[in-house]
Amino acid sequence: MIHSDLHIHSEYSYDAVLPLATILEKAKERGYRQVGVTDHLNLPNNKFIGCLSESAKHVLEAKKTNPILLLGVELTPIEKPFYDFNRQNPTSEGYSPAGYTPPNLLAGESSYPLEMALSKEELMAYGVQYAVAAAHGYIDVPHPDVRDKMATIAAWERMQLYLAADERTTILGHPYYHGLQIWYDDFSVIPYSTHEELAAALVENGKYLEMNVDMLVHPKTTELFRHQYAEYMRFMFEKGVRITYGSDSHGGYGDQRPLIYPYLEKAGFKDGDFSELDPADLWQ
Ligand SMILES: [Zn+2]
Ligand SMILES: [Zn+2]
Repeated sequence: MIHSDLHIHSEYSYDAVLPLATILEKAKERGYRQVGVTDHLNLPNNKFIGCLSESAKHVLEAKKTNPILLLGVELTPIEKPFYDFNRQNPTSEGYSPAGYTPPNLLAGESSYPLEMALSKEELMAYGVQYAVAAAHGYIDVPHPDVRDKMATIAAWERMQLYLAADERTTILGHPYYHGLQIWYDDFSVIPYSTHEELAAALVENGKYLEMNVDMLVHPKTTELFRHQYAEYMRFMFEKGVRITYGSDSHGGYGDQRPLIYPYLEKAGFKDGDFSELDPADLWQ
């Protein structure tokens, strides 16, 4: 059913150890048509740009003899004060510039505008061909509302709609991933009206949506959640959204596809429903 993996972190990402050689070896074993390295580029500082630079150098070299290999990047929305701080202080590796107070959404304070680390032109100068852009929330921005489910969901929706409209997003990564798993028991807490809105934005802007393996294997996800999430993916597919697969591997590169097939099949997915990236959607 799945013939490509478009979200993988290599040894060149700040948080991953997976050798590029292993990624290529396994991708060939599995007969993948496309395999994409998407190392993290969270902030516009020297730490992350250094990782992008290393990732690009090695992936572009390996691409010469491995045409299935793609150079991607994983972007995350960050609030404007963080973006400005990191642009002005590129040697800082911190997430919390002094004097920055995140808005208290529960008290009705409005959010800051969102940004992402580099412009599309800057990414293309590194040879980047596409981006997985995904909300991570508390990892990048200390949201004060993280224990309030509905406020956090609203923050996610805002970030996901921003990503669906942004020119840098090729694939909207791991929708409703949450680092603290606060809704991993019952996905129905997120109303279908919001899925309709996101699907329409993705279709209108020609974006792909990622089926991230973590959402169906994470130990904190319930069986109920996994079936609901697979059904959500099917709903988005039936709305016309193209679905890609992402293993989001950081360490080992075992084949997790067989673990998620039962959920996807039950939701109605069959061979041919998952997409590779259309060459016309690659930046270069
Ligand atoms: Zn991610
Ligand atoms: Zn990732």
